[in-house]
Amino acid sequence: MKKNLANAIKKARQAKAHVTRFAAGSYLVVTTEGHRYTVRFKFRNGLRYGRCNCAAGARSIPCKHLVKAAFVDSALTGYPMEA
Ligand SMILES: [Zn+2]
Repeated sequence: MKKNLANAIKKARQAKAHVTRFAAGSYLVVTTEGHRYTVRFKFRNGLRYGRCNCAAGARSIPCKHLVKAAFVDSALTGYPMEA
């Protein structure tokens, strides 16, 4: 799981995507290919949990969309990036 996340962070650094916040903890991620994904964050016991609606996210695999949104969410909320 940790390796998956590290891979997702690496991919996210290389990928370009546009992240838009449309509600508290909810982000729309649009990739350069024009794919649109929704990432939502929830807080449980003070920890941030994110979920993307792409194929990987549906299987609880950390994806680059989730990481992209997490960077923006951290910038806005000051929550540290977990890695
Ligand atoms: Zn995704």
